[in-house]
Amino acid sequence: MRHSNISIFVPHLGCPNACSFCNQHTISGEKTAPDASEVRRLLSGSYDRIKDKQNTQIAFFGGSFTAIDEDYMLSLLKTAFEFVGKNGFSGIRISTRPDFIDSQILDTLKRYGVTSIEIGAQSMCDEVLCANNRGHTAKDVENASRLIREYGFELGLQMMTGLYKSDSEKDMLTAQKIILLKPDTVRIYPVCVLKNTYLARLYNEGKYTLSPFDDMVSLCADLLLMFESAGIKVIKCGLHASDGVEGELVAGYYHPAFRELCEGRIYRNAMDKVILGSMDKSFVFSVNDRCISKARGQKNENIRYFEKKGISISLIPDKTVKKYIVVRI
Ligand code: SF4
Repeated sequence: MRHSNISIFVPHLGCPNACSFCNQHTISGEKTAPDASEVRRLLSGSYDRIKDKQNTQIAFFGGSFTAIDEDYMLSLLKTAFEFVGKNGFSGIRISTRPDFIDSQILDTLKRYGVTSIEIGAQSMCDEVLCANNRGHTAKDVENASRLIREYGFELGLQMMTGLYKSDSEKDMLTAQKIILLKPDTVRIYPVCVLKNTYLARLYNEGKYTLSPFDDMVSLCADLLLMFESAGIKVIKCGLHASDGVEGELVAGYYHPAFRELCEGRIYRNAMDKVILGSMDKSFVFSVNDRCISKARGQKNENIRYFEKKGISISLIPDKTVKKYIVVRI
């Protein structure tokens, strides 16, 4: 079941770290943390407005929710919990760090209606975690994930590609290890280097270089396919304009339709596989009827890609063909 979120941002509060990529105020677009009365006002408005409450979650995003001051965290949770239940919203979603999850915290979250927990894993390579000042290890991610699943929460894991000291092999390894943790959802964030971050400093000093944008699209396309083939829903791939990064970007892989680029690449790779080794110059593929534009690629880039090779492609919609599959007819 697809849930909509009422997003409430709790920026940076209580976080003891300064991760290399983090400029929390930029990501959330919020300058101050909301108090319980603001949360109540926001949720009252949403409660009156939203009809399909049972498919709507309250989502505390943007910081390390379980690392904030306990009294403050409880005040937010208690307020949100008033709007959850039979006649209210379906539950509460929070995101946090792996090293701020333990039984006591999970007992509290359970008591106040939290149903989904997202963990910022970012990488499953300790060398990369350390180089980016994450302050936790891959083992912490494994332990937190196991505990969250044992408690019966929905588990989400976030990974970041292209971090300082990472490469495509390490990012692939991270995805493989994440799959073994059996999350319900994953978010893939190709790195965005924001102003006033450690990464920006490294980048400006020439100590951190980024691979070409197109390589990152290929990598994230492979990751997207890996996760979805493993039955794990990728709920985000790339930051959106609404994440407020555009004015803050120094370098990195921001594109307003990054996921579409990756999905187009998945289709291009699938067609390439069929075309490779054939002497034919014209191909007709059937693809899922809802994926025709993905198969054509953003602004028809896949069609042009094959045209440059002297190959013409026609695409036929077919409900029976699964997503990301092409069938030559
Ligand atoms: S743990 Fe989260 S909030 Fe804290 S610095 Fe890192 S990314 Fe930012």
